Amino acid sequence: MIPLSKPYITEETERLVLDVLRSGQLARGPYTEQLEKRFAHIAGVSHAVALSSGTAALEVAMVTALSPGDTVITSPFTFAATLNAAIRAGLTVIFADIADDFTLDPDAVAAAITSRTRALVPVHLYGCAANMPSLASLAATHGLTIVEDACQAVGATVDGRPVGSWGIGCFSLYATKNVAAGEGGVVTTDDPDLAGAIRVFANQGMRAPYEYAAVGTNHRITDLQSAIALPQLDHLDTLTAIRRDNAARLSAGLTGIPGLVLPVVPPGRTHVFHQYTVRVTAEARIARDALRGELARAGITTGVYYPRPVFEYRPYAECPQVVVSDVPSARRASKEVLSLPVFPGLSPTELDRIVDIVRRLLG
Ligand SMILES: *Cc1c(COP(=O)(O)O)cnc(C)c1O
Repeated sequence: MIPLSKPYITEETERLVLDVLRSGQLARGPYTEQLEKRFAHIAGVSHAVALSSGTAALEVAMVTALSPGDTVITSPFTFAATLNAAIRAGLTVIFADIADDFTLDPDAVAAAITSRTRALVPVHLYGCAANMPSLASLAATHGLTIVEDACQAVGATVDGRPVGSWGIGCFSLYATKNVAAGEGGVVTTDDPDLAGAIRVFANQGMRAPYEYAAVGTNHRITDLQSAIALPQLDHLDTLTAIRRDNAARLSAGLTGIPGLVLPVVPPGRTHVFHQYTVRVTAEARIARDALRGELARAGITTGVYYPRPVFEYRPYAECPQVVVSDVPSARRASKEVLSLPVFPGLSPTELDRIVDIVRRLLG
């Protein structure tokens, strides 16, 4: 069975983890400090704060930069974490539809902005950077904060500028992400006061031991997780290049099949292929879910991210902070998308096998 993801674990990882175990310092140690330095560099900012998860990163960013009752605009085509974080931060969430690249459509965002809007929360979905120049210009015009859900997009750029530097960057180190520590997250920012507030909030509101500056919580990471992530950050350029090569090999093999729309990378943006996601449209020989079943029988794991607009589940329908809207593009995408394996550990033979089987089923 070809899986959909596999973490990059080497002898170097084992050595670093063992080093943490033997040091006796399982948390707040030197590897977390290194992780933060490395992440700030990758996101092109001066501050990075490592936390317990991507969800924690989003929640802490929203709690520290916004106020309860503020309205934010985000994508309906995202993981529940984006929405959960905003709800837990006391925000009201409205949705703007997505563009063909699966990320927020700036025209839809412009139409959704009201006098109550305080922030934009673009999601760099599948590893494709969102249209940040347009969103940043909207944010500047209307005085909005940007919180980037970059959980799937470490290393992606727009016009040469990394995601996580256009706004407050939120990254995930979850087990299936491009940099995988099991669990973990990072917030990136150029604002030293915000970075400080995030550190304080995520550490029980303590500025120094038992000196409480705010009501906080515990969203700390451990040094074990940082040790797992570090070698992946060291090799991030190479690992991302392999993802892009794998995506190019899939696209070369899958081109020209009726009803199969291949991923596109909009001009000026880079894609780090957290997922390689195709659309299976009504013209395809078999339906998306049937194709998915056949691929599973042939030993190929696939994913559907995401099967519905995120607000279309009962807990959100019943939540007064969630304002539902009409999002036809997201709705269509949820019925068409299919993610194929693209992780760096795939062999050329495995990639060709994926191509051959999809061709046989759809060609
Ligand atoms: C993974 C993910 C998150 C949450 O990250 P965790 O580390 O799992 O908490 C948030 N948003 C998106 C788009 C994600 O893919």
